[in-house]
Amino acid sequence: MNPWLVRQIVFPLHEILCGRRTMRVYRRLRRSQWWSTDQLRQLQLDKLCRLVGVALSNSDFYADFAGLDRSWRPQTLDDLQRLPLLDKATISAHRGDLVNRGVPGGARRYRTGGSSGEPMIFYFDKLRQAFDKAARIRAHDWWGLRLGQREAHIWNAPIELDGTGRLKRLRDTLTNERIFPVSTLGPKTIHAFTAALKRFAPRCVFGYPSAIEMLCTLSAAAGIRLDEMPVRAVFLTGEVLYDHQRTIISEAFGGAAVANNYGSREAGFVAHECPQGRMHITSENVIVEVLRDGRPAQPGQDGEIVVTQLDCLAMPFIRYRTSDVGQLSDDPCPCQRGLEIMTVVKGRSNDFLVAPDGHIVHGSAVHAALSGTPGIVRFQLLQQADYHVTILLTTDDQFTPGSERAIADEIAHRLGDRASVSVEFRDEIAPGPAGKYRYIISDLSSLTRRAAPAR
Ligand SMILES: [Zn+2]
Repeated sequence: MNPWLVRQIVFPLHEILCGRRTMRVYRRLRRSQWWSTDQLRQLQLDKLCRLVGVALSNSDFYADFAGLDRSWRPQTLDDLQRLPLLDKATISAHRGDLVNRGVPGGARRYRTGGSSGEPMIFYFDKLRQAFDKAARIRAHDWWGLRLGQREAHIWNAPIELDGTGRLKRLRDTLTNERIFPVSTLGPKTIHAFTAALKRFAPRCVFGYPSAIEMLCTLSAAAGIRLDEMPVRAVFLTGEVLYDHQRTIISEAFGGAAVANNYGSREAGFVAHECPQGRMHITSENVIVEVLRDGRPAQPGQDGEIVVTQLDCLAMPFIRYRTSDVGQLSDDPCPCQRGLEIMTVVKGRSNDFLVAPDGHIVHGSAVHAALSGTPGIVRFQLLQQADYHVTILLTTDDQFTPGSERAIADEIAHRLGDRASVSVEFRDEIAPGPAGKYRYIISDLSSLTRRAAPAR
């Protein structure tokens, strides 16, 4: 599809048909990125008042939880600290009490694996979707990539190619996006994978740092050149991006720009990197706090990242604890945008399972496979050098005996023929050294990674 047609007609029309004012939000965001800090703070306060008003009036639980009268409204942004922190466990336990079904366009249910192996179901709305999309288009602008240019997503394919899956595929074709499933990436399939990618000739690549790093190292090992493609920028999200990954990816794509994004399914896109190397918070619709022992950390000091999504009225993500570690900065960016700046120090990282036939099952696919099962409190997958996978589960009383078999079958299905999978139940799954929780530990994926560049 001609990029001009996508930009001017197909994409805007698609968004209107879906009931989202994405292009209108985008035009506003294009202006507000140059606003002063005071202007942005006033907008945040106005939106925070609306959000708190909806949460307190819609949810008896939230009003009790916050210990506030329904008529209470923040007078300043500092008043945000009078509201309680909200974590995954509270949202999971009180989901039905927190959802606002009367939100315009309806509340949409969504599942995620959570950021640390704890599955979670939550709700969002069209307003939040429009902001996420618009902020993403704006961040592409920063790197000279206009809406409608070909974009390859090294990502998970929809699990079932049902009606929704087919519609999504049609939409992707019409908007010049295409998914190249992470599950089809492996040492044996790298030639076919990269041949398809080259035929598509993307201007932009999007995916998990670990998956794109894998694409680069496998290509290098097989003598395949990725720099023959017209890729101008690689956008990475979903995991912490390490400096060595940035170097590997940029070199493999012939010096393409590498831009980091921070966010999660439940908290939405939170921050995008600008060409000056700073992560700009989408301050128009997200308030980021960094807390140490419950109190705001100093700029430049590490703490837990806590997010308030100002444009999600379907479920109050107010002071939502991400478990990620980051910092806020009060230095202005040379690009002169007024959007606040943050860095992410520690967060989710993905690992792989390796199938007996050599294909790779990315951690995000494991999340997708397990997140729909009720009663899983936490999970961890251990893969030994003989390819056997042990699924460790901590469950609650919603877990049914039939689910055990279904989960083992689902993971075995993804690993293909000759897969060997077992399930073990644990009272607790402890974090690894340094307190970091890894939900996949594969002896084989680390071997593949280490071996690939040297081959
Ligand atoms: Zn900047």
